[in-house]
Amino acid sequence: MSDTPATVGLFGGSFSPPHLGHRHALEAFVAAVRPTRMLVMPAAVSPGKAPDARVTAAQRLEMCRLAFGDLPGVEIRDDEIRRGGDSYTVDTLIALGAPGVSVSVLCGADAALALGEWYRPDLLFALARFYCVSRLDDPAFAEKLQEKNRLYLDRFGAAVTLLDTPARPVSSTDLRAALAAGRPTPDLAPSVLDYIQREGLYRHDR
Ligand code: ATP
Ligand code: MG
Repeated sequence: MSDTPATVGLFGGSFSPPHLGHRHALEAFVAAVRPTRMLVMPAAVSPGKAPDARVTAAQRLEMCRLAFGDLPGVEIRDDEIRRGGDSYTVDTLIALGAPGVSVSVLCGADAALALGEWYRPDLLFALARFYCVSRLDDPAFAEKLQEKNRLYLDRFGAAVTLLDTPARPVSSTDLRAALAAGRPTPDLAPSVLDYIQREGLYRHDR
């Protein structure tokens, strides 16, 4: 029997829509961290992001099921959507039972550099470990993260771990623009694209 404590993996975001960059990072995180359970959790409201009337939370949740539901051990969870309001990761960590439960959070490169400005960064770093993937289009990312990590260590006593796998240069923002303009979207899973077309999502620029 292993004496390694159980680790819950957490990947949050607006996922509007979820794309192959998210999936690639998720697979890299699971391979490296080997969480006992892996939760993908779309936010009700991503703090600081303008709401998008072209898509509902239920539709973002369904797209996450289509995008990631086939990955072994991955659970698509509606905890933040059910809680409603601004989805602060600290609240989610507390609800998951951290610090009693060991939680490892996956985030993208931009999020990793911005953690100090999230709600209650002191609690965030006390309640979970953070991992991120680097960006291919930013060769200086590792250096930037190192610099941030010095600040995180100094202020919060913990740092973000950089995974070996570089991220795919994809963003939901670019995909929403491509969908509104009728351009091809090779970075969406076919099942997600089918759903978007069936439901008529992201048809217009905002
Ligand atoms: P938007 O452009 O609307 O901000 P996004 O593509 O950044 O969308 P989010 O839903 O904001 O997607 O991201 C959820 C999480 O996934 C965040 O931690 C974000 O940093 C991360 N992420 C986003 N794109 C990528 C990518 N290409 N590779 C790895 N992680 C990513
Ligand atoms: Mg984002």
